Amino acid sequence: MTLLLAVWLLVFTTLTACGAKPQQYSHVSYGMDTIITQAAYGPNAEAAMLEVEKQMKAFEENFTLFGKEGDIAKINAAAGKAPVTVSDDTLEMLDLSMALSAQSEGAFAVTIGPLTKAWGITTDEPTVPTQQQIDTLLPLVDDSQLELADGTAFLPQDGMALDLGGIAKGAYCSVAEDIYNEFDVDSAMISIGGNVYARGTKPDSTRWNIGFKDPLGDEDSYIAAFEMQDEVVAVSGGDERFFEVDGYRYIHIIDPRNGYPVESDIVSVGVIHKDGAMADFYSTTFFVLGKEKTLEYMQDDQFKIILLDKENNLYVSEVLQQSFKLKQDKAADYTLHYIKEGAQ
Ligand code: AMP
Ligand code: MG
Repeated sequence: MTLLLAVWLLVFTTLTACGAKPQQYSHVSYGMDTIITQAAYGPNAEAAMLEVEKQMKAFEENFTLFGKEGDIAKINAAAGKAPVTVSDDTLEMLDLSMALSAQSEGAFAVTIGPLTKAWGITTDEPTVPTQQQIDTLLPLVDDSQLELADGTAFLPQDGMALDLGGIAKGAYCSVAEDIYNEFDVDSAMISIGGNVYARGTKPDSTRWNIGFKDPLGDEDSYIAAFEMQDEVVAVSGGDERFFEVDGYRYIHIIDPRNGYPVESDIVSVGVIHKDGAMADFYSTTFFVLGKEKTLEYMQDDQFKIILLDKENNLYVSEVLQQSFKLKQDKAADYTLHYIKEGAQ
């Protein structure tokens, strides 16, 4: 036994001395209507990634408006009837959503449900509602009416509905962060349909390299890449989900102010933040608010933003400049502008 241990130690130290490359584990799953890819290092990497996949099922069931048993489905079913007792996690998420939407200049509404359901853009049966339908639904989209009290949530009007699609994927990135933490995984990356959390650095001390998607290319093609550490990037764009009628493209982000899919001058916008739900909230909000407003936010040093407009201008917060690189074969197609804090 002692001899075995000695041999093992010898092999181990030799391998370490020779700089044997630590193994990167990867895991692919499906959830929240998208592909989830994970990569991680360390002895608990595989167990942690499986746990991330497992917990996502419960998270999704609880937060989807299309569920049956989850808190959001129950709140929606009881709209106009009675308050529903919900979990602390749900209350926390709704509390945060309400606080954020109040700062969004009307661009973000967690009560967007009646409109997302009427348009059905992320479903198999999208339709264009009539103006009359939209006019009837618009008064039901009003986050200030959501009542949270004593562990319950209540939508006071029949027909109101919550839709957390604008922050759920980013929020789950932060759940994954907690799971990696519990499993002592210091180096990991998860992408939930393009919303990415990068944890720590890789074993060779380099940071995770994150791609900014080419809106015209397929899932894996990027126009640029940048490095991230212990942060989430959430991306919103009109190229993600849409349907077309008579050559007109209706996208999945709806303007709560007029009830129609947004016609943004932004092609896609990525927001980097420590907190996943915040990153996701801001990316959706900036997409609705448009380029000019987002550029104003970029002059505030608390924001790290990448914005692609319809003229192929790529605006990048200056703090990202050190690692931000356009892909060589795309460099001629885009004009890169670094936006400085406080710039005009
Ligand atoms: P994202 O891809 O993060 O920008 O979120 C888009 C998703 O959020 C949609 O599929 C809807 O579920 C929901 N949503 C659409 N429009 C809005 C909006 N104006 N405010 C909040 N959530 C929205
Ligand atoms: Mg979002």
